[in-house]
Amino acid sequence: MPGYSASCHCGAVRFAFDVRIDELVRCNCSLCTKRNAVMVSVPRDSLRIVAGEEALKSYRWNTGHALHYFCGTCGVYTFHQRRIDPAMCSVNAFCIDGLDVDAIPLREVDGRSR
Ligand SMILES: [Zn+2]
Repeated sequence: MPGYSASCHCGAVRFAFDVRIDELVRCNCSLCTKRNAVMVSVPRDSLRIVAGEEALKSYRWNTGHALHYFCGTCGVYTFHQRRIDPAMCSVNAFCIDGLDVDAIPLREVDGRSR
């Protein structure tokens, strides 16, 4: 399983995970639209916070079940724990070191109506 590292913009928050990236996901819910998120699915137990756990802030909305994390210093969305499947996280694809985002197929999901 390939290992990836990722970070926010200021570098305070660094995290890592092991997953095979077959696709990127874009969601049309109101939050993903505003943060312009393109995401990678990662099992929650594979995701490790390497640095800056204390810098991470969280945001809940709607049903309050999903947990959306962002860096409290630079404000960049890092990842979130999903509402429908809490065992899965979605990671901000643009936080991943060295990922060629343009080379990976993009799937649109209809989060707005779920
Ligand atoms: Zn930051």
